[in-house]
Amino acid sequence: MSIKPKAAFFSFTCCEGCQLMILSCEKELPSILEHIEIVNFREAMTERSEDYQAAFIEGSVSKREEIKKLKKIREKAKVVVALGACSAIGGLNCLKNRFQMDYLRKEVYGQDGLKFKAFETIPARPIDSIIHVDYYIHGCPIPKKEFLSVLTSLLMGSVPRIVNHPVCVDCKIAGNICVFEKGLTCLGPITRAGCDAVCITYGCVCWGCRGPVDDPNTAAHKETLLRHGLSADDVSLALSLYGAHKTKTTSKN
Ligand code: SF4
Ligand code: SF4
Ligand code: SF4
Repeated sequence: MSIKPKAAFFSFTCCEGCQLMILSCEKELPSILEHIEIVNFREAMTERSEDYQAAFIEGSVSKREEIKKLKKIREKAKVVVALGACSAIGGLNCLKNRFQMDYLRKEVYGQDGLKFKAFETIPARPIDSIIHVDYYIHGCPIPKKEFLSVLTSLLMGSVPRIVNHPVCVDCKIAGNICVFEKGLTCLGPITRAGCDAVCITYGCVCWGCRGPVDDPNTAAHKETLLRHGLSADDVSLALSLYGAHKTKTTSKN
């Protein structure tokens, strides 16, 4: 009997929507489980094991104890994969970084928010600001096909392919009319593709959930956004929806 590699899925600060995407691979899961043993997956099973080779980590870091937990996972795992925007780029959680942490504790938990250690929080950050990450699966949530492709590559011992062209390419392939022609604005030109430009196809715009392509020409795109009617503040807000980790935090925590 062959020994299957063991994979563990961990959840840090997030909505757990990326784990849900994996659970929705119901057609593929039976064959996945022929090739790997899942030893940790909070959304799907109660058993826990500290013995694993691959760790898939969802969520950003926003508490001190998460830093310790993350380092422990890195010590055990041969391969660490960041699962989704929260983990890979900090994601929506980093929107809080523009406020003082004490202010947030009071806003969320009331006056008692400052009393209890359980409510302590630090500016949110992606996991690669704490540990080395081997591979990234982008998106909010991750696309199923990308998870399956990365998993297949890892099982075959090859390097997963990370898309590095802008969403505009996917958008053209999908046959969409550019939203700039409709008087809207979009972060597609500087955002990493791989989502089939799903938001544009379904009538929205790209907000950059998959993070930037390598070497994005952000300066040029800022000019484009300004030329299409956004104010400088609008541009900063648009870029910081998913990219807030890169903006300066106001907290001393
Ligand atoms: S990346 Fe999006 S879907 Fe995934 S856990 Fe974070 S907020 Fe949820
Ligand atoms: S709608 Fe957005 S993603 Fe599509 S081509 Fe225009 S700028 Fe690019
Ligand atoms: S179109 Fe943009 S916001 Fe929508 S899934 Fe793709 S990268 Fe994310």
